[in-house]
Amino acid sequence: MTDMSAAQLLETAKKRLVYVTDRPPLVMERGEGMYLFDTEGKRYLDFVGGWAVTALGHCPPVLVKALKRQAEILVNCSPGFFNTGMIAFADLLVRHSCFDQAWFGNTGAEVNEAAIKMARKHGSLHRMGAYEIITTEHSFHGRTLATMSATGKPQWTALFEPKAGGFIHVAFNDLQAIQKTVSEKTVAIMLELIQGEGGVNIADAAYVKGIRKLCDEQGIVLIVDEVQTGLGRCGTLFAYQQYGIEPDIMTLAKGIGAGYPLAAVLAKEKFCCFAAGDHGGTYGGNSLGMAVGIAVVEEIIKRDLSSYAVKMGDYIKGKLSAEASRFNLTNIRGRGLLLAFDVPTEAGKAIVNKALSKGLLLNSPQPATIRLMPPLIVETGHVDEMMPILRATLEEVLA
Ligand code: PMP
Repeated sequence: MTDMSAAQLLETAKKRLVYVTDRPPLVMERGEGMYLFDTEGKRYLDFVGGWAVTALGHCPPVLVKALKRQAEILVNCSPGFFNTGMIAFADLLVRHSCFDQAWFGNTGAEVNEAAIKMARKHGSLHRMGAYEIITTEHSFHGRTLATMSATGKPQWTALFEPKAGGFIHVAFNDLQAIQKTVSEKTVAIMLELIQGEGGVNIADAAYVKGIRKLCDEQGIVLIVDEVQTGLGRCGTLFAYQQYGIEPDIMTLAKGIGAGYPLAAVLAKEKFCCFAAGDHGGTYGGNSLGMAVGIAVVEEIIKRDLSSYAVKMGDYIKGKLSAEASRFNLTNIRGRGLLLAFDVPTEAGKAIVNKALSKGLLLNSPQPATIRLMPPLIVETGHVDEMMPILRATLEEVLA
């Protein structure tokens, strides 16, 4: 809480914070369930969900309770020791997935780095030093140098050169493009099963099965980045479960901490080949984060929020479809509660800004695309509250 007025806060923000992106002239202060509140007390219905993060809504009681309880017991004992939470949490994630072992980090980019290092270590030990990683165009894997190199965002190609080498980008949903690119230097294929930042582009089942087969035949590691798709968001605990395949390595972040910075890389035992000192991090597996992660994941499983996400996703898609012809909305798509639609012009930003002024948070990952990724606890009442605001927004912007 602060004594400063919104104007003073914004002035200070401009002076004191490193500029990294355009932000609207308001300052968020508080969150509760599906809503955020700014310092002026204005309420926002949140269909961005902290960027597909606040799986249980803002400040869910299970998270608050876990944080408070663990903060009084142990926050971080150092990564040089096992702690009870990291053992229990790894066991929980392994029991509910196809993987054998986990390493914990704090952000999606950090665990993607871990996955890249794991694959390259495997290449150095078992594939004659193979190191190249094939990723897809319009993918997003993070903002560290290596994960920016892995990312297939065209705007980033010329940024921060020289980036980390050894990443090759091929067209998404094009198995032949991967088949043609694979060589003895290839160690891994890294894939989002649904490209989130790319605009909610869904991988075809045959494509994913084909990649799995190719990886098996050639001894290549399949890494799936489930930072955005994981933990129930797309209708199953992990999106790979909808494809009838098992990845070799999977990364998780965002929903796993429901707003608390937490991430994990899970892998089959065969790929867990780090030697002492190859990998680590001061905060990886800290007790506070582990307590949060366990509470959040147990809650998602207990309430079967994966199935609920399907139900609510269908409800939202139905509402959007009813408006499609009126506003020329196309490609209403997505799985569970990772949804998007296209608008007829590159009005994404204008729609987001107009909706914001009306107290609704939306996201535009691509110039003509609107993405919805609300907390998994969204109710029909929230959708019914959202739709008239969206309608009024589209009316004004697309008129
Ligand atoms: N991978 C994917 C698929 C993502 O969507 C994101 C974040 N948008 C990241 C990685 C990076 O995660 P973080 O911002 O936590 O580093």
